[in-house]
Amino acid sequence: MTIEHTELIKIRKPLTDDQLLFAANVLRNGGLVAFPTETVYGLGANAYDEAAVAAIFEAKGRPSDNPLIVHVPSPDKIEALTTGSLDQAKMLMSAYSPGPLTVVLRRSKLVPDIVTAGLDTVAIRIPAHDTALRLLKLADVPVAAPSANRSGRPSPTRAAHVYEDLAGLIPCIIDDGACSYGLESTVLDLTGKKPVILRPGAVTADQIEAVIGIRPILAAGLTDDEQTPRAPGMKYRHYAPNANVLIAYGDKSEDRARQINKLVAECLHEANQTQISGNIRIGLFSSRKTREMIRIDNIPSVNFAASTDVKGLNHSDKLEIIFFDYASEPRADAAASELFFALREFDEIGVDMIIAEALPEDGMGLAYMNRLTKAAGGGEAPKHRAGGKT
Ligand code: AMP
Ligand code: MG
Repeated sequence: MTIEHTELIKIRKPLTDDQLLFAANVLRNGGLVAFPTETVYGLGANAYDEAAVAAIFEAKGRPSDNPLIVHVPSPDKIEALTTGSLDQAKMLMSAYSPGPLTVVLRRSKLVPDIVTAGLDTVAIRIPAHDTALRLLKLADVPVAAPSANRSGRPSPTRAAHVYEDLAGLIPCIIDDGACSYGLESTVLDLTGKKPVILRPGAVTADQIEAVIGIRPILAAGLTDDEQTPRAPGMKYRHYAPNANVLIAYGDKSEDRARQINKLVAECLHEANQTQISGNIRIGLFSSRKTREMIRIDNIPSVNFAASTDVKGLNHSDKLEIIFFDYASEPRADAAASELFFALREFDEIGVDMIIAEALPEDGMGLAYMNRLTKAAGGGEAPKHRAGGKT
């Protein structure tokens, strides 16, 4: 279904209800609204309205067996959507909600099948974002919302990304700047014997354990049979830019810089073998510290002649490295918040290959590496993986 006009609401501060009334009415009338949260932009519909929720799947091109997260403005709205014990959920919510934590609970009859992909569980989150909370209160219905990208594209961290993917397909986008975390929420399943992190995010296993006294298992630690019913949608290729993504592993910046060198060299070698003509463009996502350790001297952002100093390169092909420094030092929170943005930028520029810096898998690093590995081709080892896993 196409829409004649996509209304773009640019939020001005101070935030007032009247800026959001149009969007709240779209939701109440069964329409779709893309809205900002602290994680990524969401594409929302009234969770009680099956036709409205069906329109989310259509606009995104999302497979119908991939369930949605239901967004509410406060903990008192959770009871109507669920059955069973809320003890752990309440403890966690009082510690980390509003915030980037989604809890999976037994659903009530009020939640339509289409929201949960037929599961008997429902995922619920309270976003820590003024505009989102105000919109949810005004709409006064629970809002089912996945990320507001076309299925398979990196999640949107700015309204412009939503516009790029969904203009002409949805009636309204609220623009309130960049999302602070830039990665989707932690999804925690509380319906089994033990809590399970189905998707790592900014709320970590340590933080969850500190509140409920039980260490959650990572979904990757479950057998396939245990995982399939619990982690629906995880099988899909997510966060994929057009270009291939290679990951530069290594314990320290200098190790990763060496890997970047090696990957660049391999990439050029392959281009030579296959006699690709013209410039090779590589998008490099790393910290400035790591980039500055790469031994390619004076990488300009355009038309760098690769014959200078890359070990093993002695031909005259033109290499263009477009670098995106996510921060001065290697830091997972900064890398996480810029990753999807950078992947989209590289797509727009039209790079042939993306190389991204690996980071240690602790804290936000676990979520960052989870998304990066998916961008690099899912759970499979990337073809070009080099160096030890950090
Ligand atoms: P998105 O916000 O686009 O990343 O999509 C929401 C994600 O939340 C889905 O891909 C699922 O992984 C997860 N999710 C939603 N509902 C459930 C549920 N009932 N059980 C387990 N995971 C869920
Ligand atoms: Mg998504």
